[in-house]
Amino acid sequence: MKFFMQVVVLTALALQVQAEVVVHFLGTGGPEITKNRLGVATLVEVPGNKFLFDAGRGVLQRMGESRINLPLVRNVFLTHLHSDHIEGLPSLWMTSWFITKRNAPMSFWGPPGTIQMIDGLQAFMSHDVVARVNPVVKPIGIRTIVKEITEGIIFEDKTVRISAITAEHGDGNPAVAYLFEYGGHSVLLTGDSTYTPTFGRVARPVDVTICNVYAPSLALVANLDELEEPIPTVVRAVSEKLASPEQAAQMFIETGAKVGVFTHNIFYDSSADDIMQRVRKAGFLGEIHIANDREYMTIGAEIRFHQPMPVPDDLEINSLNFKEVLRAD
Ligand SMILES: [Zn+2]
Repeated sequence: MKFFMQVVVLTALALQVQAEVVVHFLGTGGPEITKNRLGVATLVEVPGNKFLFDAGRGVLQRMGESRINLPLVRNVFLTHLHSDHIEGLPSLWMTSWFITKRNAPMSFWGPPGTIQMIDGLQAFMSHDVVARVNPVVKPIGIRTIVKEITEGIIFEDKTVRISAITAEHGDGNPAVAYLFEYGGHSVLLTGDSTYTPTFGRVARPVDVTICNVYAPSLALVANLDELEEPIPTVVRAVSEKLASPEQAAQMFIETGAKVGVFTHNIFYDSSADDIMQRVRKAGFLGEIHIANDREYMTIGAEIRFHQPMPVPDDLEINSLNFKEVLRAD
């Protein structure tokens, strides 16, 4: 009887843990070249499935460092087709296939233009699509399924619903945000977008809103005309398509977010403290977090942030050891 009770308790705890949504901030940068931020990529995990949102530069590297079970990452959702959101795709799609023997197609969702982009990816890698096939690396793993999407529910199974919402990203349009819903929890990933009232109209209230930020200081913006080109032109153009800290605060408020998280962080001449203060001053009272690469967040009864797992100096994930090194989930 005692044994039975222990089993029941352990099972209940396990279910509680599994009820969480885990969000890995794999890459938290924009297109800029920085030491610690690779291109934007956010992986959302629920029991039995994984969903990758954008695939910036270095996404496979960061997944490996976090020991993500690579062959199970087969659902990729693109917010738009700017290079900094797709340039990690070739390695993610190709290298994870032949190293980890992925034996199912990879599916892509994205705005109009995604079919052409994936056709281009296939052409770019056409040599290896054929050459790397062998008795253990099967053609099915390099196949692609592409769905071009606009608005509304774009993915639904027994536990997960994903909806696309129109975003406003200037020369990156057509662009979408994604609302991810699972087990009574919800996360809005804005992708790249300047302020739009649409998010608050469609997605409210959410547990977490994950927003981009572009943060040239208010002083710099006020004195743009006195600065030499290309600074005025660039700052004005980028401000038209990304979110300032004040715009992000407005979107956090309008989506009813308990927690506002920043990724695709472009600090320009500001510090993290400057951004936090500007968000507070703009009236968002919830928790604010500026994500760093490979941090992860769990969303269950509570929302918690966790430091990245350490990366051993001799980490090597290869065709022989991947099953032992990668997480077994
Ligand atoms: Zn971007």
